[in-house]
Amino acid sequence: MATYTKNVRQYSRKLPSDTMEFLWWLVGAYAKVKKTTYERYSGIGSLGKLTPGYTVLNEMRASGMRQELGMPVVYYELAILDALTAIKSRWGILRDKLKRLAAFNEGFSKEERTYIYTVLKWGSVYAAILQGKDYEEPNLVKGLPVDKHRLNNWLCRQTRKHLGKIQVTREAGFTISPKAGYSYKNGVMRIAGRQPRKRIAIPLRDGRQFSRQLHVEVKEDHIILTAPVTRESSLSEGWTNEIYVHIGNVDALTLSNGHVYGEGLNKLTDMETERLDSKNRLRNRYREARREALEKGKADKAAVISAHNLGTMKYQRQKERNRARTESFINAALNRMLSEEKPCRIIITYPVKVGKGSRLAKSAKRKLARSFRGFIRERLEEKCEERSIEILRIPSKDTGLVCSNCGKTGRTASGNRFRCDYCGYEAAASLNGARNIEKKYRMEHG
Ligand SMILES: [Zn+2]
Repeated sequence: MATYTKNVRQYSRKLPSDTMEFLWWLVGAYAKVKKTTYERYSGIGSLGKLTPGYTVLNEMRASGMRQELGMPVVYYELAILDALTAIKSRWGILRDKLKRLAAFNEGFSKEERTYIYTVLKWGSVYAAILQGKDYEEPNLVKGLPVDKHRLNNWLCRQTRKHLGKIQVTREAGFTISPKAGYSYKNGVMRIAGRQPRKRIAIPLRDGRQFSRQLHVEVKEDHIILTAPVTRESSLSEGWTNEIYVHIGNVDALTLSNGHVYGEGLNKLTDMETERLDSKNRLRNRYREARREALEKGKADKAAVISAHNLGTMKYQRQKERNRARTESFINAALNRMLSEEKPCRIIITYPVKVGKGSRLAKSAKRKLARSFRGFIRERLEEKCEERSIEILRIPSKDTGLVCSNCGKTGRTASGNRFRCDYCGYEAAASLNGARNIEKKYRMEHG
């Protein structure tokens, strides 16, 4: 059986707010260290310090930034190393770019290309040329009949021109290493905290334990761990289908082949929305009654109302119970989809981002907050991870109101229906969406 390396993910349970506070603080501090390292060492002048990187680490240790931030050593140093990796990969991207430019430059002779490829391959030579320092020529280029001065100038010019254009993405996360950074006790993961020897418990959704560097992505109330692992291909025979999936609020999962899983998800969530709304109306009335009682000097009565009608425990418990019920409905739908469709590859869209600038109505925002699409997406990714199913995301642009039959712009008819006035195609909006995902994917991937 073939082996391959891939990233596996592990999800934490919902974490208490003080743990989340620490994690968010850490994300901020980590990003600051990365940014500073990046700014100081991404230029041409630092090229010689990048490998193996001790110089950078030592200089950053001596800078006092760690003490200023109050950051544990384990996190501080990994942030520096993370930034170094990003800087090196930026140089790698740039070198590939220059190689391509040289390959497509018709003004270069074969020998001139050889010279450029060789210099780019020898990091120290390339660095010396950029910094205008002396260097020893690699044997390969010694006898080449080329104008080295001109080619070196070309390398410097192209490097300056393209280096700034390569951006490195930022994310809400950090890296942790085994032992000093994390360990397990009684099956619970514990990570280093701000105080020495005081670890913070991170309960996980499953019992897997790692012993390598992990990347931690921090979400609103939980974290996602990512680890590279070597695996054997484990998909059973017959799991060869490619499916295109629309993730929705009305029906959880709609496929471009017309199959629907988790039909009527909205009935569950609408019921809960209604229940919460009427509950809140009732609570408002009780609040009013308590206010009146207080005004009339009936403190006893007000206390009785507070205790019996305005408690939050029962309210929260009921809310949690309903959430759990909806989540298990979604889980069952996902399991059914996987076992019936037997996919080896699943294509979905990226989540639609609601930015700060967006002007959504309050009610729409509330709806979004209660939407389970994020949950469906995460669980789907998790299940695909466990089963080695490939999952691909494409941008959601042109998968909504475009007609999957003729490509013209259609409209939302009543409720969840899509209608195209041009060709007359009509279907569930989610089915039209899934068909568009398939069309778009096939167009771009042959
Ligand atoms: Zn149409």
